[in-house]
Amino acid sequence: MQGLDDLYREVILDHYRTPHGSDALENPAVKVEGFNPLCGDELVMEMSVDADGRITALHIEPNGCSISVASASMLVQQLSGKTLQEAIALKDIFKAVMRGESWPAGQDFGDLEALEGVKNFPVRVKCALLAWMTLEQALAQYDPELAGQVEADDDIEVKTH
Ligand code: ZN
Repeated sequence: MQGLDDLYREVILDHYRTPHGSDALENPAVKVEGFNPLCGDELVMEMSVDADGRITALHIEPNGCSISVASASMLVQQLSGKTLQEAIALKDIFKAVMRGESWPAGQDFGDLEALEGVKNFPVRVKCALLAWMTLEQALAQYDPELAGQVEADDDIEVKTH
């Protein structure tokens, strides 16, 4: 499995070095900030949504460890162009994997699969989850009916603008 680990490490570092979503948005629908005090990871996330409820663009300003930045970058990669419901579905799957479950069979989760090993390191799980908890808050800010998506966490702080 050593070779696989190396491959995953390379995928994570690629996202860390050149994260997706670096382009600023003209008129983002929401802007949310997340903070993981356990590691010092910070993340600003902006989201644009069209009239059909599709995420047209995501912009992130990550400032943190390689896991937190890579996770945010992969989120952008996976969710750009997706509907809010698709975003919620992927968010739920990713959180479940970080809590110890396996990826659902028969689906391709792309580069995100490289983060699965993080679930063996509880403190780093917070790093990986930061972007997804920030996304929850962004969804809820965009549409109050999605407020039920926001799950409180003892450590991660998320605030809206
Ligand atoms: Zn971190």
